[in-house]
Amino acid sequence: MNGDIGIDVEKAAEFLELPPSRFYKLLDKKTIVRNWDEYEDILRFDNHVSGIETGSVLIEKNDTFEMIRGFPKIKRAMILIPSIEKNFQGIESVIVEEKMNGYNVRVTEYKEKLIALTRSGHVCPYSTERAQHLLNHDFFREHPELVVYGEMAGPDNPYVPKDIYGLDSLDFFVFDIRFKSDGSPLPVSERRKLASDYGFSQVELFGEFDIEEAPAEITRIIKELGEKEHEGVVIKDPEMVLQPIKYTCSQSNCADLRHAFKFYNDSGRDYMFPRVVREGFQSFEWNESEEELKKRCLRLGESILRPMIQSIREVQRNERISDEVRIRVRDRDTIYKFKSYLERLGVDVIFSSPERIGDDYLVRISKINRSTTDKTKGIMEGQLWS
Ligand code: ATP
Ligand code: MG
Repeated sequence: MNGDIGIDVEKAAEFLELPPSRFYKLLDKKTIVRNWDEYEDILRFDNHVSGIETGSVLIEKNDTFEMIRGFPKIKRAMILIPSIEKNFQGIESVIVEEKMNGYNVRVTEYKEKLIALTRSGHVCPYSTERAQHLLNHDFFREHPELVVYGEMAGPDNPYVPKDIYGLDSLDFFVFDIRFKSDGSPLPVSERRKLASDYGFSQVELFGEFDIEEAPAEITRIIKELGEKEHEGVVIKDPEMVLQPIKYTCSQSNCADLRHAFKFYNDSGRDYMFPRVVREGFQSFEWNESEEELKKRCLRLGESILRPMIQSIREVQRNERISDEVRIRVRDRDTIYKFKSYLERLGVDVIFSSPERIGDDYLVRISKINRSTTDKTKGIMEGQLWS
């Protein structure tokens, strides 16, 4: 039977090993949501469903289906020594890779073109265009059973723009390759070899360390990364059987806070608490001197207060608080597709007119944050904090 969503629900349910009635219910509840326009054959899991992660995507392909699993959550080490010992029991060494700060994208082939899925399972038109230019298509033809997971990083980035990697525009750094069938990952060395065979950029590999020496090595790496405001590391079982864990630098933590507190009425709360706690444990673990601790306190405090005060001043000058980002595209159509995509997702945006740069177009985007602007205005007019 063909439901009004345009896909064969009976078959989709059978593929997922769910009763069709359950599948209909999930559609009703919008737990499973259909994409739009050219991607309407793609269904997105807006929540997890019996073992299927949030952000997973079901694609109808030649009378059958294909599942692109969401990227699993990576838990965080708060104190390195016990976390490494506890999480990597039974193995002798771990691999340490850079944790890059951009946004998570899965790339797969759809109707003979590459598409880029965001963490939530949307097909992002900007990332899709970039993926089409950045990645060797042969990989996807020769390995239709695999999905490539990576971080889109660099300054021409509408979600997490960063200048810290010395990149001109935007690049895609592979950090995982998994089987579509069951979501299982390739071992690290196999993945890195395969990615390198196809000329993909990859996250940096810092090395493989014995469990006993890993905490000291990681501390050294983290201190160096911190100086450059890089984010941190992901610590992995070489075989990718045990779950990876992440560990990050104080400086990157503070950079996140600076961004969040600019929009304090939106993201301040959820951001602040875990980040303050992380700073406490890191300072403890590193047994910091009074001077080091003072530096940390100042860094943390400044990253909270300064951007907030700047936002208040902007509102006082009658400006609207916004996030300024930019994109660089080859095809002009991508600009309009991306704008309508952001609007559909409820992001309030102003796009500049495109500037030609070589073969590309550069577009500046203001993401307006009404909530913080309005709240600040209200407070300036005497509104009380309830
Ligand atoms: P979560 O903790 O649920 O995975 P989050 O968005 O809160 O999600 P982050 O703190 O950014 O997570 O850490 C996880 C993310 O780090 C991954 O989703 C991935 O996009 C990114 N990442 C960057 N480099 C790597 C790497 N080398 N290995 C794995 N993930 C990486
Ligand atoms: Mg991230």
